[in-house]
Amino acid sequence: NFAANVSHELRSPITQIRLKGESLLYGLAITEEEKQKDISVIIRESERLTWLVENVLDYTAIERSTKQYYLKKGDIGDTVYRAVESLQATLSMGDAVIEMNITNDIPLIVHDPHAIGQCVVNLITNAIKYSGNEKWVSISLSHREDILLMMVTDRGIGIPIKDINHIFEPFFRSDDREARRQKGTGIGLSITKHIIEAHGGSISVQSVMGMGSTFTVRLPYQKEGELS
Ligand code: ADP
Repeated sequence: NFAANVSHELRSPITQIRLKGESLLYGLAITEEEKQKDISVIIRESERLTWLVENVLDYTAIERSTKQYYLKKGDIGDTVYRAVESLQATLSMGDAVIEMNITNDIPLIVHDPHAIGQCVVNLITNAIKYSGNEKWVSISLSHREDILLMMVTDRGIGIPIKDINHIFEPFFRSDDREARRQKGTGIGLSITKHIIEAHGGSISVQSVMGMGSTFTVRLPYQKEGELS
């Protein structure tokens, strides 16, 4: 099932890349603007492919207990900002509004920027994917004493109560009709949870059907070298 879902997800970006490549090769894109559009679709879809493949590789590494983290003390606001920026570059016009609220008093925190960036991409991609027509997402960072809080909120379809305790399990996909309209592999949230827990943190969700969901990540401020 997983292989079928991954193949299904790979197919759409590959088709787009091929179509736009052919359009450029055979001169179907004539004006400079058309050519630029084709090139940006190729770049955008390649980025999507990279994320998908990265999730699959990560899942394998987690399963084999070989996933490694490169932890260093750094500006997590910058990590989040970069992830959102790269996501925004892959969105088509009118796809979604992503609101960022990062206060500038967030202390430096030990984290793996690449892994945390991947969590941000996974959470925001879901928020957009499982939104109805109003694709609005907000991501905020704040801190309370020795805890950093990251919240990702959407106004989407929501998560059925019976599924709340399962969505972080590998391969779990809700059988809700609205949710099933979207393609997926069911590994994004399980990887996200693994990454957050490897940082000594936790992730939880609150959701109301038809109103939206909020994923809350709590990360402790730890000293360098404290995490393995
Ligand atoms: P995928 O999206 O590939 O199915 P995930 O592990 O990212 O896998 O998510 C697991 C399931 O949790 C999804 O299939 C969906 O049912 C539900 N889900 C995740 N994020 C949201 C969200 N923001 N709103 C509603 N449902 C969500």
